[in-house]
Amino acid sequence: ADTKIDFNDYIASIPDFPEPGIIFRDISPLMANGKAYSAATDRITAFAKAHGAEMICGPEARGFIVGCPVADRLGIGFAPARKKGKLPRETVSVKFQLEYGETELFMHKDAVQPGQKVLIVDDLLATGGTVAATANLVEQLGGIVVGTAFLIELKELHGRDKIKDYDLFALMEY
Ligand code: 5GP
Repeated sequence: ADTKIDFNDYIASIPDFPEPGIIFRDISPLMANGKAYSAATDRITAFAKAHGAEMICGPEARGFIVGCPVADRLGIGFAPARKKGKLPRETVSVKFQLEYGETELFMHKDAVQPGQKVLIVDDLLATGGTVAATANLVEQLGGIVVGTAFLIELKELHGRDKIKDYDLFALMEY
């Protein structure tokens, strides 16, 4: 049904954002178009289903935009990975490197059940640090990461090398 959609038409490329030399890939035109958003969700849902996902997990904030409609389609849950100070109950955490400095992600201790099959989603794969950290959290909770899925993979940054253990799906590549 989505064969006529060129998803690339719905990605805005913004030079020098957030800093000089970076081309930011903005997914908001895709989210703004009901047909494109739905078709993108269809594609990730098919990947999730093929991998037997029982739970979707995504990092804030754009991982929620991509992952929650997939979870809803499948009638399964969504587990958010969040930045410091956002989750009110007991958490697990992981520190990881960004381009400049370090950051930390958190999940509630009961967000994923031991043995549960989890698909990790985000809008974009760059260096892979964010998704590798999210996978680490899921595994701390005893979850089984059955794959990772993105709207966009930035090939030059070789992020997939950080998550080689998992099957990967990307709707678009730049
Ligand atoms: P990584 O940890 O793989 O280096 O960076 C990926 C994370 O940064 C994702 O959570 C993604 O939302 C964000 N990100 C980095 N660059 C871009 C970009 O050009 N466009 C969008 N939409 N997100 C980006």
